[in-house]
Order: sequence, then structure tokens, then C-alpha cells
Amino acid sequence: MLYTSTRDKSIKVSSSEAIAHGISAEGGLFVPESIPQITMDDIVRLSKLDYIGRAKEILSLYLTDFTAEEIDACVRGAYEEGFSSEKVAPLHTLTKGTEILELWKGPTCAFKDMALQLLPHLLTVASSKSTPDKEIVILVATSGDTGKAALEGFKDVKNTRILVFYPNDGVSPMQKLQMTTQEGSNVGVCAIEGNFDDAQSGVKKIFTDKAVAAKLEEKGMMFSSANSINWGRLVPQIVYYVSAYCDMLEKGAINAGDEINVVVPTGNFGNILAAYYAKEMGVPVKKLICASNANNVLTDFLKTGNYNRVRDFYTTISPSMDILISSNLERLLFLLSDMDDALVREWMGSLSKDGSYRVNDEVFAKLTTLFDAGCCDDEGTKACIAKTFSENAYLCDTHTAVAVSVYDDYKAVTGDETPTVIASTANPFKFGKAVLDAVRPGMSDGMDEFDMVLGLKVETGEDCPPQLANLKGKTPRFTGCCKKEDMEQVVFDMLK
Ligand SMILES: *Cc1c(COP(=O)(O)O)cnc(C)c1O
Repeated sequence: MLYTSTRDKSIKVSSSEAIAHGISAEGGLFVPESIPQITMDDIVRLSKLDYIGRAKEILSLYLTDFTAEEIDACVRGAYEEGFSSEKVAPLHTLTKGTEILELWKGPTCAFKDMALQLLPHLLTVASSKSTPDKEIVILVATSGDTGKAALEGFKDVKNTRILVFYPNDGVSPMQKLQMTTQEGSNVGVCAIEGNFDDAQSGVKKIFTDKAVAAKLEEKGMMFSSANSINWGRLVPQIVYYVSAYCDMLEKGAINAGDEINVVVPTGNFGNILAAYYAKEMGVPVKKLICASNANNVLTDFLKTGNYNRVRDFYTTISPSMDILISSNLERLLFLLSDMDDALVREWMGSLSKDGSYRVNDEVFAKLTTLFDAGCCDDEGTKACIAKTFSENAYLCDTHTAVAVSVYDDYKAVTGDETPTVIASTANPFKFGKAVLDAVRPGMSDGMDEFDMVLGLKVETGEDCPPQLANLKGKTPRFTGCCKKEDMEQVVFDMLK
């Protein structure tokens, strides 16, 4: 299996090279040249395996230059310990026919752990194959959850350094504390004045700057990415959609071959793209339902074919989805245009120049067949948390609530009763204030983050994961905040 770039189809690299480099030199994203297929018999067989067994099989279809032993070691290293559920990504039945896929049982309580517990292992193997003797410098732009999950995944991993930039006013207090108290000798964290898109475009600029790359080369270092632009972030996410279908079979929620819908609270379009890959591999998915918060650029795009990021940016209570440039959409457009790199270049060029592009009729027709989309503002999100808690005795975080709410709307409009998996992307205690405000309005007034955690515990009877509760009283190690223009300097200061 070779990988090519969304902006230059003549590029062909191995999966190791794609993962070690993170992004293609001309700015495109790596995608596999074809999508491996699994049959329903395969899926039935996989359903008898545990998560690790399922992951090993799916990954081996994509990472063909990894040996079976290497994949085994990577997958065990990622999922054998560190997840609080034996099933790694368990299903919780919300109502008959609606399953919540809990992707936040990992060390940082967000779905990013699913990929970022595995990526450092993949990257270590990949770079030993394709870029030996180089120290890898991971640069991360985060809307909150990626940063912590990446720091936790890469801390003290040999031959790597990791530096995380987050928007100073764009993450929850708990997320900020998680990052600024990070331990490890190879880590750095810095806030920037700006929003997530500023952080992401700043990181992308440093990445593709030839002069910066040359300076790094002199030090025997090279950049790579832990953002979902790296294929090594996406491939682990395909696994849990296959696994969710297996678990639905196992619990008798569906019969082999039945279709399911998948609902995903979406920001950078990585998670839902992984669901698309699972569908194209052979998992019977009827609709992929893309859920957004007030930053509903994707809702508009999937309904009109016109992507326009020139609009107000909202800071919401689901901050990991406060994104107006969804990077992974580029991969989908490449696939849906039958790998037309020239078209993708044109659309992405127009996005960076004018802030918008319109896809052609052919691609738009495919989009509307595959996807449905909806959005939900903060009021709707809180209302959904309260309703889901009182009616279904299930406490969900703000991001998950966006998905539940959009799914409720979808069902009301379409009457579609297809069994459905809703991706749940964070533990509710990670966004304690908003969740407490939703279930007990007014109670959080005057409380600090940890009073709120306690309040939420008392009010709901749910337990706060120890890795969040233990942050109380920790002193931040990293307190810096820089301007967008100074990010490059911060990087080199850290690498000294
Ligand atoms: C990252 C994140 C999302 C968005 O996922 P994408 O892959 O960027 O679309 C949603 N919810 C939470 C809690 C996240 O951390």
C-alpha cells in the first residue's frame, strides 16, 4: 500500500514515510492510494476478537511496511494499559437503537487518546525505517484536547520533542491546567494570542518553511505532526468504527449486514473522515451525520457545496469544535473527486486566498448521498445535556451533546429509525462548568473549577476520573503566551 498527496498525485511514499513526515512537502495531505476492503465475514470474525485483535488486523491493511511484530508491539503499547475500560472504546445504550461510543476512556479523558496513545509508537517505528538518526520534533496546534493527549503520548519518548501551542482564551480551565502542568523532559507548552485557526495556520507555516527546515536539519532534527493532518492520527480512528459495528453485532443490536448511521461531533473533520474510511472499507454505514456547534461552516458546506470561512468565529462551550478551517476535508475532496489533485489545489488555493470555494456538482452529489449535517448552539447544547441526563440517566459532555442534539433533529426531520452510533468524544468532567450549568443552572456561580467538579459529582452521582481530580493544587510549569508572529522563535528557543 502506497500513499500519495492530495496536492500532487505523482508523489508515492510508504506508510512509514507518510507518518514520519506528517505532511507532504508541497502542503498536501497523505492518503492511501486505495482503500482496503473487508467483507461481512471478516467483520463477524473480528467481532470475536478483543479491541487489540481488531486493531491489529485493521492497521495491518494500511501499514503494509510494518511487520506483524511491529504492529503487535505498537497496538499493545497503546491499548493494553492506560484505558479505564477493558473494551477500550465501549458502547453505552442510550435508548433502543441508539448507542453511544465512548471514546474517552484513555489517560486524558478525550477521544484524542484513541489515536495519540498509538501515534508515538507508530512514529518511532516509522522514523526508524524512513528517517533513522533524526530527532523528531512534534509541533502541535490544539483547540484543547489534542495538546494534552499528544503531550501525554509523547512524554519521555526517546528521540522526540514535543511543543504545543494553544489559544489563550480558547480552552477550558481544566484543559489549560492539564497542559500547563504536563510532566516530562522533552515537552513544551505555550499559549498564543489568537484562536485555534491562528495556532493551526502558524504551525502549518513553520512546517512548510524551507529555511526553518534547513535550520532543523543542521541540528539533526526534523518536524512531524501529531495533528490529524498526520495519517498516523487517522488510521487508529478507523479501528473504533469497525469495532463499534462488531460490538453492536455482539450485543444483538443489529444483525450482520444491517446498516447503521454514525453521528460525529466534528471540528477538524478527522473523526468523521475515519468513519467514512470505515464505510468505504465495507462497514455498512447508511448516513454519516456531521454535527457542528455555532461554528457551523461544515453544516453550510454539506448543505450547499459552498465552503466559506469568512464568517464570525464563536468561542463556545464545546471548544474542541471551534474551528473554521477543517483540514481533513481536503482528504475527502480528493477521494470524492476521484483523486483530482489539480482540483484540490484550486479549491485549497481559493480557500487560503479568498476564504471560500465551491465544489463541482459531481462532488456535491456524492457529499449529499453520504452525509447529513446539522448544528447546535450553546443553549441547545445545555438543553440537550439536561434532557439526556433527566430522561436517559446519561451525563454527556458538551461535544457529545452537540451530536445527540443534531441526531435528535435528524430523526425528527427524516423519521430514519436505522440503528445509530453516536461518537462521544470527552468525559463530562473535562467541561465541568458547562455541564454543571446545564444540569443545575446557577449553581456554578462563584465556584472554582474543582468546586464545580465536586458539585457535578454530588448532583449527578458520577465519578470524576482521578487524572482530572488530581490536578487540584498542581503548579503550572508552563506559563508563557506569545504572539502569532513569534511562534517560530518560541520553537527555536525550546530546541536550544
Ligand atoms: C477534537 C475533538 C473533536 C473534533 O474532532 P475532529 O476529528 O477534529 O473533527 C470533538 N470533540 C472533542 C472532545 C475533541 O477533543
